[in-house]
Amino acid sequence: MTFAARLDAELAQFRRDGVYKRLNYLESPQAARAKMEGRGDVVILSSNNYLGLCNAPDVVAAGKRALDQFGAGTGSVRFICGTFTVHRELEAALARFVGCESSLTYVSCWNANEGLVATLLGEQDIVISDQLNHASIIDAIRLAKVITKCQTAVYRHSDMADLEEKLRSAQAANARLKLIFTDGVFSMEGDIAKLPDIVTLARKYDAVVAVDDSHATGVLGRSGRGSAEHFGMLGDIDIITSTLGKALGGAAGGFTAGPAPLADYLTQRSRPQLFSNALPPTVAASALAAVQHVERHPEVVTRLHENARYFRERLLALGFKPLPGETPIIPVILGETAKAIRMSELLLDEGVFVTGFGYPVVPQGHARVRCQVSAAHTRDDLDLALAAFKRVGAKLGLL
Ligand SMILES: *Cc1c(COP(=O)(O)O)cnc(C)c1O
Repeated sequence: MTFAARLDAELAQFRRDGVYKRLNYLESPQAARAKMEGRGDVVILSSNNYLGLCNAPDVVAAGKRALDQFGAGTGSVRFICGTFTVHRELEAALARFVGCESSLTYVSCWNANEGLVATLLGEQDIVISDQLNHASIIDAIRLAKVITKCQTAVYRHSDMADLEEKLRSAQAANARLKLIFTDGVFSMEGDIAKLPDIVTLARKYDAVVAVDDSHATGVLGRSGRGSAEHFGMLGDIDIITSTLGKALGGAAGGFTAGPAPLADYLTQRSRPQLFSNALPPTVAASALAAVQHVERHPEVVTRLHENARYFRERLLALGFKPLPGETPIIPVILGETAKAIRMSELLLDEGVFVTGFGYPVVPQGHARVRCQVSAAHTRDDLDLALAAFKRVGAKLGLL
């Protein structure tokens, strides 16, 4: 069999298994409603555009100005000649926003996570990771293990007794640096990490806490500063990684924030910093405008919280059983992967875009459609989506 024929055969199997993902092309900006696949007005309930900033005029204008001021590309990695003044401004704004002393941007949060673990840890160190952490953390840890021979441990999802057990073992083994790494908001379940307990345990066992706040930055807390603000713990988290590709304008990019020397340390040693281009200035400028937008308009965060609460309550009233929670990630569990994909297709026929997720993104038998609510949604948008859920749910015998 040729290489191409082998790929074709595997793709055919994905289709037979009902797990093949068809791409849906947008023909207009990411927004509460978008042009998709020739349809004029699809309600988007599957985007990370939590604050509606992807197409906010100030965010777009900042990118255009930066294109004129700095040109299209950085043409270099940061430490050679790819550092622009807009990077400095953005990194100062991000550190302030998430309650840390310094921050450093990467071209993605995936890169930020990979650039963190392997840089901080060595052979005598251990990273202790929540079982449901995002793939970028899992792969960052795998990579660090290969590069640095660091120790690794995984604790059951949000199980504090198990985390303590892993910390106790690490202490008994005389691990030098103990790094606890968790998502702030778990993307497939929509639940929030137990940060108060995690930080208490970290203090008890002299560990460092890293939180990937990609689904929490701009989302949680009264002013959108993330999971730390949600728990009244701004300034108490040692390291925060996050994305610029979700609530903060949604273009691309990520960052790592922490104590004052952290950004400089990563600048010196983190391999994706040293060997991969800096964040494009247009993207940096849009992200900076997004941070300023949230700081000036905290009411957009309030609207997001209200929309999430409304949508969750109405789904329950219709007879659906979304996973309980307080974030704008609202998963409806359906079981088999094919069922989730079928529901997603029927909803799109009704003008509502919600992605179905199955194995291997979620465990076997826990396939789901995952709704993500945005501050950009009006009540009309949400009511239209709820009416579609009602019809499709009845058609599939779910209600
Ligand atoms: C989305 C996400 C990422 C990836 O962010 P990018 O900037 O797109 O690489 C990383 N971590 C978590 C927890 C995420 O949800």
